[in-house]
Amino acid sequence: MVVSTRNLVLEYRLGAETLRVLDIPSWDLGDGEQVAISGPSGSGKSTLLNLVAGLALLTSGSLVVCDHDVTRLSEAERDRFRAAHLAYIFQTFNLLQGYTAIENVLLGAAFGPVRADRASATALLERVGLGARLRHLPAEMSIGEQQRVAVARALVKRPQLILADEPTGSLDPRHAAEVVALLRDACRERGCALVVVTHETSIAAAFDRRLDFRELNRALATPGGAP
Ligand code: ADP
Ligand code: MG
Repeated sequence: MVVSTRNLVLEYRLGAETLRVLDIPSWDLGDGEQVAISGPSGSGKSTLLNLVAGLALLTSGSLVVCDHDVTRLSEAERDRFRAAHLAYIFQTFNLLQGYTAIENVLLGAAFGPVRADRASATALLERVGLGARLRHLPAEMSIGEQQRVAVARALVKRPQLILADEPTGSLDPRHAAEVVALLRDACRERGCALVVVTHETSIAAAFDRRLDFRELNRALATPGGAP
């Protein structure tokens, strides 16, 4: 199991008020499993990914990710855990603007245990169809190409799990479908689990397993919970 959570609750304190954003009775993701999560804006999808990545702390409940009880890790341990096991892909790529495609891919492994060399980074960029763009800066690539660099950067550290938060939100429908197909194939080849958050039904439809966040997150049904 890559992710296993029970009675996961996340609340924010806003003065005297408590805002319950997440209340997830149970959710599991198996090794190498792929799932699309969709749901309304503000329903807590990004918050859940942040918890899984150890970027935020839950209020109560259990959460085990890649055999680590993330609720028991210190902040420094969570940083190391994230670098070793997970990769994140964002809507806006987060490529470093002053670095070429191949340098951005190499930086993806900079804090993890896997050593990446130029040969493996080149092979990954070839795998995502950018063999002729190795020395291009982000500004010299199309949006779709930049997102494919972000996919290669996520894969280079050989993660057990990739978390992709609206990865196609900046792409037109054709490139969106291409990037997601690439991501899914590459994860399948490597036995890497994949969570894609998307509000695009055409993207979610490609996945065998789809989760409606309104069914997963009980906080959405509770008065005083998230909208
Ligand atoms: P989604 O990704 O589904 O659009 P988010 O996970 O970003 O939703 O946000 C879920 C809810 O949590 C929103 O209602 C948002 O306003 C609230 N929220 C996020 N961060 C904070 C914070 N630091 N303090 C209080 N509320 C927050
Ligand atoms: Mg979000």
